[in-house]
This record gives sequence, C-alpha cells and structure tokens, in this order.
Amino acid sequence: MHHFQYKGNELYAEDVAIRDIVAKVGSPVYVYSQATLERHFRAFDEAFAGTPHTICYSVKANSNMAVLKNFIKLGGGVDIVSGGELYRALKAGVDPRKVVYSGVGKRDDEIEYALTTGILMFNVESEQELTRISEIASRMGKKAGIAIRVNPDVDPQTHPYITTGLKNAKFGITIERAIEEYRRAKALPGIEILGIDCHIGSQLTKVTPFVDSIKKLKKVIATLREMGIDPKYLDLGGGLGITYNQEEPPLPADYGKEIVAETKELGMHLVFEPGRNLVGNAGILVAKCLYTKQRDEKNFIMIDAGMNDLARPALYGSFHGVQPVVKDQDGLIVADIVGPICESGDFLVKDREVPMFKQGDLMAFMSAGAYGFAMSSSYNSRPRVAEVMVKGSAFEVVRERETVEELIKGERVPSFL
Ligand SMILES: *Cc1c(COP(=O)(O)O)cnc(C)c1O
Repeated sequence: MHHFQYKGNELYAEDVAIRDIVAKVGSPVYVYSQATLERHFRAFDEAFAGTPHTICYSVKANSNMAVLKNFIKLGGGVDIVSGGELYRALKAGVDPRKVVYSGVGKRDDEIEYALTTGILMFNVESEQELTRISEIASRMGKKAGIAIRVNPDVDPQTHPYITTGLKNAKFGITIERAIEEYRRAKALPGIEILGIDCHIGSQLTKVTPFVDSIKKLKKVIATLREMGIDPKYLDLGGGLGITYNQEEPPLPADYGKEIVAETKELGMHLVFEPGRNLVGNAGILVAKCLYTKQRDEKNFIMIDAGMNDLARPALYGSFHGVQPVVKDQDGLIVADIVGPICESGDFLVKDREVPMFKQGDLMAFMSAGAYGFAMSSSYNSRPRVAEVMVKGSAFEVVRERETVEELIKGERVPSFL
C-alpha cells in the first residue's frame, strides 16, 4: 500500500496534488511519500518484534539523504556497498554500529575509512578480501568485525540480472569453501568473527528461497559451532519483492513469521538489508508528454524523462505502471512511451494500453522509488532531475535539479588544445 491516490480526477501524494509539485519544481521529478516510507519500515520492523534484529536499509536502492534520515530516525541501520554510501549514511546520522558493508570490490581506502568510523561488520565476499581486511585492520591496531557472505546456491526465481545467490554468481564465497575461510578468519590477527551473511537476489516473490538458504546456512553454523566459532549475527540480506504489476509477494508479516520459525532455535541476532521493499512503492517519477506520433502500426508518446532518469525498463525490461496526473484523456491507446535519449532502448513503457496522453499531459510512473533516481545518469548531457519528499500537506525539494553548469563541473580542456 502507498499514498499515491486520486482525489477526484487528480493524482495526489498524500495530501499534495502532484500538479502543484510540478508547478513549483518542474518536470521531470521524483516524488517520495514520507508516510509510505515510514509505513513500510514499521511493517518490516514489526514482522520481527520479539526477535533481536536490526534493519540495515540497503542504501543503493535510494540513497537520498532524506530517505536515509527517515529510516535512521525510525531506528534503522544501513547496508552499504561503497565508501560513498558510508559517507552519506554517516552524514544522515546513522549509528556506525548499525552499518554492514557488502560488495565484492572493497578498495583499501574504503576499508580503512570503514574501520576508522567503527562500522559493525564487513560482509566478506572473497578469500583475498578477508586477508586484506585483516592486514589493514592490524596495521591500524584494530580488529575488523566480519561476516562471511555465503553463496548458498539457491535459485531465487527472479530476473537473471538480479539473481545473486547461484553458484556462478560473482557474489560471496561458496558454501563448500566457507568453513575453511572461517577457520582461517579465526586465526587472522585483524579479524573478529561476528556473523554469517547471505543475499540471494532481488524482487523475490516467494519465501521458499529464503527458507532454503537459511536451511543451508544452518548446516554451516552447526559446523562452525563444533569448531568453537559462534557467530552472533545472522544477516539474511534483502530481496523481498514488491508489486509492480500483478506480482503477489509475501507481506513482511508473513515473511517474518517463516523466517522467525526457521531461525528461532539458533538464538542469533537477525540482520536484514531490505531496499526495494521499503522504498519501491514509496516513490513515483512524474514526467510530461512532449509530443505524440501515430504511425501505421505503432504509436509513440514522447516524454521529457528517459532511460537516463529511470533505467529499469531499458535495463531489465521492467514494468512500471503509468497513470495520468489529471484524468482527462479520451480513452486508451496502445503505445510506446519513450524518452528523448538517442537509443532504441530508451522506453519506459512498451506496447501497452495507456491513457491517450496529449501534449502537455503529466503522467506518473509508479513504483519508481527503488533503483530509480539512484540509477539515473546524465547521459546525453541531461541534468539529473529533482527529488521531492511529501509529508501530509507539505512537500520539500530533497535534491535540487542539476544544472548544465554542474554537468561540466570538473571537466578541463587540456593545455595542448
Ligand atoms: C542490493 C542489495 C540489497 C537490497 O536488495 P533489495 O532487493 O533492494 O532488497 C541487500 N543486500 C545486498 C548485499 C545487496 O547487494
């Protein structure tokens, strides 16, 4: 559920008419609903009431400072995948002891930065990374908290590009290898073993793959305990899906019930890294129809937002619902809704029945809060769009629209030209 609903013919974000936001901030613009963000966080949190747990929001899904601050205020931590994300999260006020650091390519300077700030733990994704973290921590006279990201070889039954827990994926350490690495970690001077971690993919619409991977991790944990290694944290990653179209993902409460049942006997502190589930349906991208053209067999609606603003349809063939900001169209039409980018992959909607948008009409691309702005670029020298957050009847710009001056900031023409 989210707070983007019609009042009469007009689409609202909570108590603010989208049209009023565009009048003030322009188009295109991302709009986030604070009430929706809060509701999603609380639903996830309540699903684990009574079980020790930390929700480490996955920053990469939507890294806007306002979004981070919102979850931090509700007691959340963060899951980061770069030094840049750590910087943002700390600026937004995160407690470093609620930061977990994932990712296959952590650089020396990023590891050092994370150790300086005192994050909870690194989710280690390779043998060499484990060695490196120990070396750097030792040099700094510290011990780095770690979990090993185990790749449980479970198929999450989602899009191949967002499948991460199969054997051939670049992520994590294979389950066969994990025990040996824990043995090695125990002996490394700069390492403190704190947990075990897995993240099998994104946009999962069933609980079974989560449960299957827990079953596999439990075997690893049993072996570790026999070896005298007793990790405190069980990090189950993110990945819980949302409804974009017809999907029926489990409610957080149902997901929680099954996870708790499966993990209770372990007595561990659970860590979650939800991204999409918290922010996906809390954001929309609003754009304007520039032109329409009708060809023999095909209709096109050209808008002022493109694949550089919302990459998911071009990248994954993803579905985003599209709704008029004011319902005054004369019926429906089968069309492609395309952007201004000079690429054939630049579409937001393909061959779908949509309202017969006309020049100047505003439309909202739904479920755009996750991997929307965060994946946007300035390709074709298009300044990145503004972001707005709504709370009740108030709204504020939470990221200014980029300017053309900012686009070339840092570029230099060399002296030999
Ligand atoms: C991307 C990612 C997440 C978040 O995934 P969602 O599907 O958005 O919940 C969590 N953990 C790791 C390690 C990730 O890479």
